[in-house]
Amino acid sequence: MDFSLNEEQKLIQEAARDFAQTELLAEVIERDDAQRFPTEEIKKLGELGFLGMMVDPKYGGSGLDTLSYVIAMEEISKIDASTSVVMSVNNSLVCWGLEKFGSEAQKEKYLTKLTTGEHIGAFCLSEPEAGSDATSQKTTAIDMGDHYIVNGTKNWITNGGTASTYIVIAQTDKDKKHRGINALIIEKGAPGFEIGPKENKLGIRGSDTHSLIFNDVKVPKENRIGEDGFGFKFAMKTLAGGRIGIAAQALGIAAGAYELALKYSKERKAFGTEISNHQAIAFKLADMHTEIQAARLLVYQSAIDKDNGNDYDLSGAMAKLYASKVAMETTVEAVQIHGGNGFVKDYHVERLMRDAKITQIYEGTSEIQKIVISRSILK
Ligand SMILES: Cc1cc2nc3c(=O)[nH]c(=O)nc-3n(C[C@H](O)[C@H](O)[C@H](O)COP(=O)(O)OP(=O)(O)OC[C@H]3O[C@@H](n4cnc5c(N)ncnc54)[C@H](O)[C@@H]3O)c2cc1C
Repeated sequence: MDFSLNEEQKLIQEAARDFAQTELLAEVIERDDAQRFPTEEIKKLGELGFLGMMVDPKYGGSGLDTLSYVIAMEEISKIDASTSVVMSVNNSLVCWGLEKFGSEAQKEKYLTKLTTGEHIGAFCLSEPEAGSDATSQKTTAIDMGDHYIVNGTKNWITNGGTASTYIVIAQTDKDKKHRGINALIIEKGAPGFEIGPKENKLGIRGSDTHSLIFNDVKVPKENRIGEDGFGFKFAMKTLAGGRIGIAAQALGIAAGAYELALKYSKERKAFGTEISNHQAIAFKLADMHTEIQAARLLVYQSAIDKDNGNDYDLSGAMAKLYASKVAMETTVEAVQIHGGNGFVKDYHVERLMRDAKITQIYEGTSEIQKIVISRSILK
């Protein structure tokens, strides 16, 4: 398998790296502290074409492959995982799902705004009693003929307060279980749609996570994605691709922490020499470098599988499981290499350590990835 990047992919990598350095780095600590959403930065990401990277240019997208998307995700995540989660949800969970399964009218109306950053999207599956067990949907979408009436609560929704376009998963026919679930597009401001308070989080604090409350929200039938009962399949197929994006986010967090630790180890002196000359530190760096490269190959493989039309459920789950583990372990070691400086905000690694944890939780916890992987290898 050839993992080398072509000229276009190298240019995207460079553009993402430049963007992260020039637009994201300066205020990343302040945004994290204040839990401030990167509003201006997201607008600029849209102008760069990074919010609808894989979408056909006729809908305002960049028409790129998944590999280009993961390369960009890695570079942005090295500096600011709060910005990269907005990018990931918009690209993988909202734009991809709409382009693949939406009607022409939905694409014209919503996708063209989501790809440019005029609108931000949110993907609303989780509920207080339906996280890993996503089939236990309590939110209902009652069929009223030409429209649905939606009632219920979603929680943990990324871009919950800042989005304009929400894809909401809801149960229409309880007797049909997961085959009775629909995916509906709901716009911000729809009567009866309330946004709950913002969560105060451990990591990715610049991102905007809310619960959403639906009280008799009227949703026209033309806002349903796909056939009646397609909602659960839509959510699972969309999340399978989303995992590749989160795996790339985890890879970027790990690589960012490693780069900082490598630099610091060559500057900081202890016992009359740079700490990189102590084998205990050099071996940590060797492990980090090796594990990050292994994670990168898994992430690239899953992206290439998707681009080649191969099944990517298994490779995406393996990439997310492994890259998120590497992100957690690498960031903890990066803090260790920084000693006391690792424990304060100015050196960035403590933030990367806090940000790493979420990659083992959202879009399917590590335990759920192991269920996906074991089912695939045992069938
Ligand atoms: C910051 C943040 C952003 C998020 N963004 C979104 C979003 O945009 N949209 C959205 O829909 N959701 C979002 N989520 C929700 C996220 O996907 C869920 O938190 C996640 O799927 C886990 O669900 P849960 O929290 O209910 O945990 P639970 O499902 O209650 O799991 C608790 C623990 O039990 C384990 N567990 C559960 N079932 C099994 C099993 N069968 N076998 C083994 N172990 C099991 C889990 O792995 C976990 O360790 C977000 C969450 C956070 C924290």
